[in-house]
This record gives sequence, C-alpha cells and structure tokens, in this order.
Amino acid sequence: MRLDKYICKSTDYMLSDAVALIESGRVAVNGQSVIDCSAQVHKNNRVLLDGQILTLRPFRYYLLNKPADMICSNVDEHYPSALNLLKVERINELHIAGRLDADTTGLVLITDDGHWSFNLTSPKQQCEKVYRVTLSRPITEDAALRFQQGLRLQGESQITLPAKLQVIDPYDVRLTLTEGRFHQVKRMFSTIGNRVKSLHREQIGSLRLDVERGQWRTLSSAEVDALS
Ligand code: URA
Repeated sequence: MRLDKYICKSTDYMLSDAVALIESGRVAVNGQSVIDCSAQVHKNNRVLLDGQILTLRPFRYYLLNKPADMICSNVDEHYPSALNLLKVERINELHIAGRLDADTTGLVLITDDGHWSFNLTSPKQQCEKVYRVTLSRPITEDAALRFQQGLRLQGESQITLPAKLQVIDPYDVRLTLTEGRFHQVKRMFSTIGNRVKSLHREQIGSLRLDVERGQWRTLSSAEVDALS
C-alpha cells in the first residue's frame, strides 16, 4: 500500500497529517528516509516515524443484519449508509463486501480488508449466497430448471451460473447464487416473468444471520478464515 495510507492505518493521523509527516522527512522505510507519499510499502517493511516503529492495526471484520431503507455505500444518499449502525471507530475506513439494495434486508459483511472482500465477491470463489424471496406471482414449475440451466439477463451476454431454487410455498422461495451481479435476484425473477416483492439475505458461505435486524457483531478469526 502507499506509504501515506500505511501511516494512517498504523497511527491516529489523518491523510493530510501523514502527507506532511512524510514530506518533512520524518518517515523512514527499511532504514532509508522516504519523502514520496506514494512510495509502496509492504506489511513486512520496517516503517519508522521519528525513529519509532509503526505497526499496522489488525483488519476488522463484522457481520450486520441490514434493515430496509439503508444503503451499502460509504456515504449517505437518499437513505443513510448502513455503516452508521456500527458503533466503532474510523467507520470511513470500512466498506461493505457484497452490497444489498436499499430495500433488501439481511446479512452484510463489513471490513477494511480489501483483499478479503475482493476474494469473497469474486465469482471465481463460488461463495454461496442464500436469499429468501417473496414473489408477487406464484412460482412456475419450470423456474428451478431455468435457474439451474442459467438465464441470459437483459443487456448481458454471459448466462448466469447455475442457481438453486427451493420452493417454500408458491409465493415464497429460497434462492442460492454463487455470483453477485447488479440486482441479480430481482433481474432473474423478472426474466422468468415474476417480480420480487421482498428480498432478504440469510447466508453467505457458511455464515448464517444470527443477530436481530439492525444489530451487528464481530466475526471470529475462524469465520474470517472460512470465507477466505
Ligand atoms: N439481488 C438483488 O436483486 N438485490 C440485492 O440486494 C441482492 C441481490
């Protein structure tokens, strides 16, 4: 990562302070003074500020049960950001791995570990996401087969990866996906002539939602590793 970012992630300094510290020659990397803020440093490098070693804070990982009418971006827009629900420091350093629409509820994962969230959301990883879906019309008999075979969504050339459909009752189903395209669940049902009335994510990989709506908790290291 960039040296200025390293300073922010290992101290309480803001980016502008980190830049000033580096440019004034107070930072050394592996015994050499460095005044270039964009210099790349690795976590194994020895970074010193005024002769004191700086150690990166450990990454943070949280699970949140997102309520409706909250968004998954970092800034409030028409609705407030779901990140506001977390009562932790430096919320601006966190992001949501695998966003939900404003009207979708359920399991979201929040972290400041960009590699972890990239792997988690990569289609190559084939991580299962389980959604509970309420429909406006009864599910048709051919839906499970069509989802299993893959659908061509409007405006896309690649068909969707095989998805599993479990029918709970004609208006209520569970859908398991291994990818996360834009509005994928809603677009898949629209493609087969139905409409999603409500959408709730119950599970990501082995992780099930186990906190109340609007509540959150820290993930254990075993849970983080299981999703790596
Ligand atoms: N698919 C959707 O259509 N919306 C979501 O929020 C998540 C998956």
